[in-house]
Amino acid sequence: MTDLPVRIRPEIAALPAYRQGKQAGADAFKLSSNENPFDPLPGVVEAVQRAHGFNRYPDATASRLRARLAERFGVTDDHVHIAAGSVSILFQLAQATSGHGDEILFSWRSFEAYPSLPVVAGAHGVTVPNDAAGGHDLDAMADAVTDRTRMIIVCSPNNPTGPIVTQEGFDAFLTRVPADILVVLDEAYAEFVTDPAAVDGARVLAAGHPNVVVLRTFSKAYGLAGLRVGYAVGDPRILGAARSTGIPLSVTAAAEEAALASLDAEDELKVRVAELAIRRDELATRLRGAGWEVPLAQGNFVWLPAGDRALEVAAAFEEAGLIVRPFAGDGVRISIGEAESVDRIVEVAARVAP
Ligand code: PMP
Repeated sequence: MTDLPVRIRPEIAALPAYRQGKQAGADAFKLSSNENPFDPLPGVVEAVQRAHGFNRYPDATASRLRARLAERFGVTDDHVHIAAGSVSILFQLAQATSGHGDEILFSWRSFEAYPSLPVVAGAHGVTVPNDAAGGHDLDAMADAVTDRTRMIIVCSPNNPTGPIVTQEGFDAFLTRVPADILVVLDEAYAEFVTDPAAVDGARVLAAGHPNVVVLRTFSKAYGLAGLRVGYAVGDPRILGAARSTGIPLSVTAAAEEAALASLDAEDELKVRVAELAIRRDELATRLRGAGWEVPLAQGNFVWLPAGDRALEVAAAFEEAGLIVRPFAGDGVRISIGEAESVDRIVEVAARVAP
């Protein structure tokens, strides 16, 4: 007997609830959810305010936004699928590809939502440990493919550790993966990447790999986390299957307007992204100087490999008004936020250095 009022699938009952980054108090910086510290641009806010027709349901496939994104990737509109956050698309793809006895493969540690995907789909999760530098060990991942593998996730840059997968490494990986297995390239942080060797989803798709789906989001570089818009680019048949598993009409009209206006304002947003990338590089350098082995950081966050001291280290940051994200037994992730937070981060990091 359990204390549940109805019968819940046991594996679902055992899933941990999504842990949201803590909210920050008045004098604290919230650096726990890889959000963009900048407010939306005035043009984006105005576009949402100007929009009308909110008494009607939104366009089911967000066609205007799809058309704009398709143009940038040089594909037809049916190669783009929009959802309420790219995390929704991960769940859709898992359900579309994987069921009982099937395997979903990913590197670990990586994005916290990945372990839930096989559970919700009724499949098995198979993980391959990150390499010593905190990146993907693509050879070991290719070795871990079985005849039950249905979906593989490659996260570049890897959340929460930071390193990219190289284009060369990804191309070589694809030659080792059977072409009927879905490979999801999760590029939630693509816009922050400055390393020219990094894999580029657009280039992969242009080279013609119909089993690859590229995932991007408006939550990070575009600063629209609160409005929930993410997208996938790939083969229309795969995306159609994903859409079939999704909740209809979940991308709101306001979100579509904001995303379109953000694309219009891209030059301004790029300046902000560049500023955050510079801040990230400076912070990583200073943290290394303070005694931390910070892995290559290519997203809008840095990783402190604190191991067993992760909770204690995060508590020290919190005491100093810096809300960071601890991963027990492993490390602490710090998002790149306001410029004023940097000195304070370095100060605490030096104090609790290994
Ligand atoms: N992928 C990765 C690697 C992420 O870190 C995140 C957000 N933390 C997402 C996907 C989901 O982003 P969203 O649903 O906001 O688009």
